[in-house]
Amino acid sequence: MAYDPDNIFAKILRGEIPCSKVYEDEHTLAFHDINPQAPTHILVIPKGAYVSWTDFSDTASDAEIAALVRAVGTVAKQAGVTEDGYRTLSNTGPDANQEVPHLHIHVFAGRKLGRMVP
Ligand code: C5P
Repeated sequence: MAYDPDNIFAKILRGEIPCSKVYEDEHTLAFHDINPQAPTHILVIPKGAYVSWTDFSDTASDAEIAALVRAVGTVAKQAGVTEDGYRTLSNTGPDANQEVPHLHIHVFAGRKLGRMVP
């Protein structure tokens, strides 16, 4: 799928739409989900124009990939949820109901999350 530069996360990255930022570095941005599904619900996104994990793993630099992975750990630590635990989830494509066509990782925490089922 071609990257849509007008998707909502692209607008957030350009500062055209506000977000509740929790972390930022050269390659990555993390912010609170606008419609939280758990007491902690943070989205971690690469700053580059990637729709899916396939795009990302095919074309992102090692630095971008490392930054995204490290950002997840940093965000969890910052949120104080490493002891009780947290869940990461990433929807890719229509079968997974990906709503926003910019790669993102959800970080859920703050309550018992139940068993994960497809
Ligand atoms: O994985 P999926 O694409 O379905 O998730 C998109 C997420 O982006 C949703 O959880 C939605 O609440 C969030 N969102 C947001 N801020 C926006 C638009 C969507 O946090 N402005």
